Amino acid sequence: MDWEYANIREDFNPGIVTGNSHDASYHIVVSDGEILCVDGAHPWRPLTQDEWRWCGLEPMSTHYLGDLGGTPIFAEEVNPDAEEPPGYEFDSLWSFLTSVEQPVFYLIGRAKQLVEWHRHHHFCGACGAETSTAPIDRSRKCESCNLAFYPRLSPSIIVLVTRGEEVLLARNAHARGNFYSTLAGFVEPGESIEETVHREVFEEVGIRVKNLRYYNSQSWPFPNSLMLGFHAEYESGEITIQEEEIADAQWFHYTDMPNKPAMMSISGWLVDDFVKRMS
Ligand SMILES: [Zn+2]
Repeated sequence: MDWEYANIREDFNPGIVTGNSHDASYHIVVSDGEILCVDGAHPWRPLTQDEWRWCGLEPMSTHYLGDLGGTPIFAEEVNPDAEEPPGYEFDSLWSFLTSVEQPVFYLIGRAKQLVEWHRHHHFCGACGAETSTAPIDRSRKCESCNLAFYPRLSPSIIVLVTRGEEVLLARNAHARGNFYSTLAGFVEPGESIEETVHREVFEEVGIRVKNLRYYNSQSWPFPNSLMLGFHAEYESGEITIQEEEIADAQWFHYTDMPNKPAMMSISGWLVDDFVKRMS
């Protein structure tokens, strides 16, 4: 299937094992976390089989991602020091957030995460022996101690706390730029995601919440988060910020909002969902 006519959300079928030969294929080339772009191709597209064959880059590893209406798509890991071939350039994953449609962004994020997982698991973390790619699932296996290493995902919660017509937004102490966002944090071992919501909100701003409502989720490949979005209602307490994490946190009326998070992020969707319901 031609990339330009494909609907990635519908036509992409994820997979792990491919047949050996195919007349056409697509290649997402990753080098040191950056993605290869064909000069002049707007919006971005992966390399075709011929482009990949003749661009002069050597793969360090190849990962089948699935197929697009029958045409296989691969992630290609190339040397972090690889030079850009003439007619191509590497671009950071961040730039794709705003330059491609979301299903394409998630496909690129998938390629980058698989390449990074592979790079970080050449050797077993327990015994140090070399690992090998398992034939049937997405794992690296250690033959000597039988451990398996799967691509790492880090589940995180992200929550919009509301109080009547107001929302609680915070400015992160480490974020660049002056914008306010929802609260977020990583799930810890032993926690349910609901427990994470209660703990993170209390740690970061010192308030208690109730009536959690799951909203939706987003793959966030910086480097490997899975964001689980919630709405929650204020229950009790005064804002007391955790200064290492939060520079400022305030209640904002939905008609008088500060600089908000980007609309391609789940944080932006949560805020937008609330504002739509209020207005
Ligand atoms: Zn081992």
